Amino acid sequence: MLSKKIRNKKNSSNKKNSGKKTSKKGKRQNNDIIYFDNNSTTFVCDPAKQALMDWISCYNASSDSKMAKPVKQILEQSGEYLLGKCGVSSATHTAIFTSGATESNCFIIRACAKAYKKKLIEMDSMLKPHIICSALEHHSIMECVHDLENIGEIDVTYVYPTIYGNIKPEDVEKEIKQNTCLITMMFANNEIPVLTNIKKIGEIAHKNRIPLHSDCVQIFGKYEIDIIKNNIDALSASGHKFYAPKGIGLLILSNALIDGYNLTAEISGSQQHGLRGGTENVAAVVSMTAAYKHAHNNRAKKNEKLFQLRSHCLEKLREHFKFNEYENYAYPSNEMKFEDLELISLGPPEDKRGHILPNTLLIAICKNKGRPFCNVELKKYLDIKNIIVSIGSACLTKSEKASHVLSAIAAPPVVKRGVLRISFNDDNTIMQINKFIKLFVNGVFKQCTDLDLSKKEINKIDKLSYKIDDEEQENTD
Ligand code: PLP
Repeated sequence: MLSKKIRNKKNSSNKKNSGKKTSKKGKRQNNDIIYFDNNSTTFVCDPAKQALMDWISCYNASSDSKMAKPVKQILEQSGEYLLGKCGVSSATHTAIFTSGATESNCFIIRACAKAYKKKLIEMDSMLKPHIICSALEHHSIMECVHDLENIGEIDVTYVYPTIYGNIKPEDVEKEIKQNTCLITMMFANNEIPVLTNIKKIGEIAHKNRIPLHSDCVQIFGKYEIDIIKNNIDALSASGHKFYAPKGIGLLILSNALIDGYNLTAEISGSQQHGLRGGTENVAAVVSMTAAYKHAHNNRAKKNEKLFQLRSHCLEKLREHFKFNEYENYAYPSNEMKFEDLELISLGPPEDKRGHILPNTLLIAICKNKGRPFCNVELKKYLDIKNIIVSIGSACLTKSEKASHVLSAIAAPPVVKRGVLRISFNDDNTIMQINKFIKLFVNGVFKQCTDLDLSKKEINKIDKLSYKIDDEEQENTD
């Protein structure tokens, strides 16, 4: 007979093996991944998958055939539906389907600059089109304006935010010039969980007869955006940020802007009112529309849950790390004494809920003594444990350079080196967060002990660190 001790050991190793077997095979493994990088991309929801399959082999919407009629209709209905959700209709606005928000953003900037340049030439003006944008914009905006600026096509002014990521409308107003042809400001930032006062900026833009474009990518599946109330003339969105497939985006334009500037296509062709050539990706359009419906079903409740996940995560982190305010890092005073290891949260203060993007948390481990902390290492550690987070905007992780967004909020190197973005989806759970916290604390601990911390420092972190039990090791290794 086996002794109790040996029996238990045997059982536990069987359990381990069976766990590993399933975790190595498809579905189980996916369930084991804790995905907290939803600002980078979301998984495709079932209604969006179904819609994609339903329309994947449809006729060409531009065809004369009677078979193309339902294809044209579904495209029009999709456009009308999405316009309606933004509080407008095709009577006053046009929905253009693009390959994603990068294309939508580049289109509006290039098309406005081109149209305005024509106007200036007609007026014999020596001025160039002038564009105002925030210093926090996504790369698709930043690189587009840089390119045009570099070849001398436009002048650009960047408006800098507060250390919490807020753009002050009065700072935008100060930058307006007689040749300003476009103000472009993102509604929600993809790294800092901050919302912009777009309504007020739009008021200022309209008072000065300037169109306002807003990159609404990170907010589009989370709040309904009334573009009239928010004074938006052009809106960009991207399907894969709200449970639709990648490669489909939206640009909503007011007809007043199209006609007033006489906007013309950047991708030439007769489709989509001549504003975006190329055979429409109907299946992706219908899929994105289905994803929008799905995302906005019970939206208020989902947003409440996202806020709860966020608060829970912060609360748990506070239990394990000495917490400090970001402003003490952005504006350090001589009196301020930093502890060896601290944690900060970036973005608007927690009590300013109306300014916060509910699914996003940007934190930083600030290691103030010894060898610097490395967020890339921590991210890799979490990756091995099947926890996916980001250390900034998705494209930056490759080059491992600190983001322009962090520079814009005056983040010192110690913050840049420790930053980690956690972005939830509607299906994430408290349990996943608890597991993340355990591994996060372990990851920090592991890195700090690998480095040259003093024994005293190690003990301090050791107290905070968890021991991961067998079952969790099984799932994550
Ligand atoms: N704008 C913002 C704020 C984003 O976060 C992203 C994607 O990360 C984009 C634009 C680009 O969107 P897409 O991937 O559809 O080109």
